[in-house]
Amino acid sequence: MERIYLDHSATTPLDKEVFAQMTPYFCEDFGNADSPHAHGRGAQRGVDTARDRLAELLHAKPNELYFTSGGTEADNWAIFGGARGMKERGKARVLLSAIEHHAVSSAAEALRAEGFTVDYLPVDGRGIVAPEALQNALTPDTGLVAVMWANNETGTVQDIPALAKIAKANGSLFFTDAVQAAPYFEMDVTALGVDMLSLSAHKFYGPKGAGALYIKNGSPVKPLIVGGEQERGRRGGTTNVPAIVGLSLAYEKNAGGMVASNGKIARLRALFLREITDLSGVTVQGEGVPAIVNLRAEGVKNTDLVYALDLQGVSISAGAACASGSTKPSHVLLAMGLSEKAAGECVRVSFGKDNSEEEILRAATLFKETVLRLRG
Ligand code: PLP
Repeated sequence: MERIYLDHSATTPLDKEVFAQMTPYFCEDFGNADSPHAHGRGAQRGVDTARDRLAELLHAKPNELYFTSGGTEADNWAIFGGARGMKERGKARVLLSAIEHHAVSSAAEALRAEGFTVDYLPVDGRGIVAPEALQNALTPDTGLVAVMWANNETGTVQDIPALAKIAKANGSLFFTDAVQAAPYFEMDVTALGVDMLSLSAHKFYGPKGAGALYIKNGSPVKPLIVGGEQERGRRGGTTNVPAIVGLSLAYEKNAGGMVASNGKIARLRALFLREITDLSGVTVQGEGVPAIVNLRAEGVKNTDLVYALDLQGVSISAGAACASGSTKPSHVLLAMGLSEKAAGECVRVSFGKDNSEEEILRAATLFKETVLRLRG
């Protein structure tokens, strides 16, 4: 029996066509994109095309995109760089939602040692940041506001244009981590009204270790990685040409197939939920992007359920993949008002465009059987 992968929020497989278009940049067009000779120019052409294409799709200018080593670096850069830039303008307070990914919140916490004030915006029981909550929390010294677009544990989606508008009216920079939203939404940075936005290729069938940060021109954002003059002197390090080419192509391909894949994923999600409706004591926590469903199975520890399903060939997760070594309850679910016990009974199932109905039916049956068995 083939294994069933239902953990697309943790990562997705690299698209084979994207992989094929990345490969020449490893061994043939391998030049350093900053070298002035023909080898370098060949690599640079790949980067330029990737940047132009991605910028067009995001409605950004090419020189507003900075390629990074992934979502974590892009998030760290937005927080450290944005906060430090605004501190020079006398605004040394950072405000972030209580449900941010650790790539954002750990960076913000580290800023306390530099004299920053760091405060959190509450969410309601669905995981939503109310625009009024942001309005009430803003102070004249708030330099940076960070609210993620879609949450990685529950899929909850925020009203980014409304939140960005409120932050901007206060003279604050607004950053959104769009890592989990990018696979499912068309992105127009101008319409969103954000100053910074982060992406990670491996969430939309691109390579791991490839990300991007959009920084609106004129934003006072300090560099994070200093070194050479790469990325217009704002991000040192020899350009990772295959990763950049892969990110841009994967984004383009995903965006092109988004309407169809969102529809399919929504149907798979509905099918899974329908198949498990007769299982008592199961509730959905938060709701948003079609791919993610966070389920609490009362009386069953989430890690026990994840391991038991793994043994039967089904991959799901007990929350964020990068926190799976941790025994701490999810900060996202606690912020939504769940008790520690309840949060410890929640698993994340995340669907992908290549899952089949047969897989979903089999996974739902195994899910039901396993929950009942673990409940004894
Ligand atoms: N932000 C969110 C919301 C994520 O889900 C992830 C990945 O799990 C990241 C940031 C980090 O991205 P990367 O894995 O590319 O470092």
